[in-house]
Amino acid sequence: LMQIYRPLNMIGFVYRELRQGLTDIEEMFRLLEQDPEIEDRPGATPLAVTGPVIRFEDVSFHYDPERPILKSVSFEVPAGRTVAIVGPTGAGKSTISRLLFRFYDVTGGRITIDGQDLRDVTQESLRSAIGMVPQDTVLFNDTIGYNIEYGRPGASVEAVREAARMAQVGPFIEALPHGYDTQVGERGLKLSGGEKQRVAIARTILKAPSILILDEATSALDTKTERDIQAALDEVSRNRTTVVIAHRLSTVVNADEILVLRDGHVAERGSHAELLAQDGLYAQMWNRQREATEAEEIFARTHEDP
Ligand code: ATP
Repeated sequence: LMQIYRPLNMIGFVYRELRQGLTDIEEMFRLLEQDPEIEDRPGATPLAVTGPVIRFEDVSFHYDPERPILKSVSFEVPAGRTVAIVGPTGAGKSTISRLLFRFYDVTGGRITIDGQDLRDVTQESLRSAIGMVPQDTVLFNDTIGYNIEYGRPGASVEAVREAARMAQVGPFIEALPHGYDTQVGERGLKLSGGEKQRVAIARTILKAPSILILDEATSALDTKTERDIQAALDEVSRNRTTVVIAHRLSTVVNADEILVLRDGHVAERGSHAELLAQDGLYAQMWNRQREATEAEEIFARTHEDP
């Protein structure tokens, strides 16, 4: 039996090693794949960040010329402020975050940071100025500590822990038998969507970018997780110029300005209170979501363990 077992065991080992390698390679391709066509313009200069103030000026965009996604979208995010973008599914919200990170170039108008057109600056400088908390964070098959430290390679253990605490994921990690040395991913601990997002927030807190893009996960979260994530997001966006792509309206209540995107246009804009008073699309979305949350809370109460 051992004669069969050893080779099988060996194959298992090789398979696992290959799998690890493949996941890292997949991750690398996933990252590289994002910008197949974008290249630095000859003579591109590093982005000089002063504010930073972000401006979208009459921005139009399509993936496919037959199907415009954004049509003449204009807005400004003043330095240190938060603008939230909401709207029906497919309205082009995440597209705005991809354009800001320059995964694609605009097809009309321009996007500037402190007056510099994104197409005139080096991508490296642009991407080091922006922290992105994506919808789905892919974690490396490594320790949870490494996954956070990735935001600022070489950061001290203390800095990693402080970032985790600020992102509301510290106590969770500290309660694991191996703490920050716990392996995550394929061969290790599987984290929930909410936990992964908080790890991504911790990573971004460590990176300390001057601009932040939060692309909120669509997935429904329970009330406690949602509150924890909200606290983590408040922490990471404090005093940073922030664009929040919001799928849940609870995230946007405190935004300085909310843009309601519909059919590629900014259909409504204003603060939460102003938009409720307008009694338009935002007010409708808000009421619908509130009813859904209330129904969920009633359900949770009536199904609580005695
Ligand atoms: P959701 O709330 O569902 O996440 P969204 O408002 O963020 O939606 P986007 O992801 O910006 O929407 O997508 C806007 C439209 O662009 C969608 O109709 C989508 O199908 C299309 N789209 C997105 N990415 C691509 C792509 N790479 N190629 C072609 N079309 C795309």
